[in-house]
Amino acid sequence: MKPSQLRIDEKTGRYLPMIYPEEIPFWEGLKARKLLLQRCNACSKVWFPIGPMCPKCLSMEFTWVPMSGRGVVHNFVVYHKAWMPYLQQKVPYAVVQVELEEGPRMTTNMMDTPLEDIKIGMQVEALYEDVTDEITLLQFRAAKT
Ligand SMILES: [Zn+2]
Repeated sequence: MKPSQLRIDEKTGRYLPMIYPEEIPFWEGLKARKLLLQRCNACSKVWFPIGPMCPKCLSMEFTWVPMSGRGVVHNFVVYHKAWMPYLQQKVPYAVVQVELEEGPRMTTNMMDTPLEDIKIGMQVEALYEDVTDEITLLQFRAAKT
């Protein structure tokens, strides 16, 4: 995988993420159905967004480690307006902030979960949406186990 600029998928009209060089392990992990985040070698803090330095102790030594993929909905909003043509087919849809068991919060979407079922504090689990041959996105759904 290579770094990439913001672009629009020609088949779907969907925006694809920009990929920065330091994020490549994250994106390759998603493609392999793993949620990998950085864990500090000095103090064990796991952080997100991706960055070069532990936000707790400022160490620059870290390891990419797999997360459980489990967490809870910390907060969410429901969008009723399509801000780009691709989203016309999606509204209304939820944007959720999931707090992972390991601590970091990630802004994401829910799949396979009716809007009316989304609640703050609900248990969720990661799933992986292949968007292109190259890009897989992290999504969440109501926990099944
Ligand atoms: Zn640290």
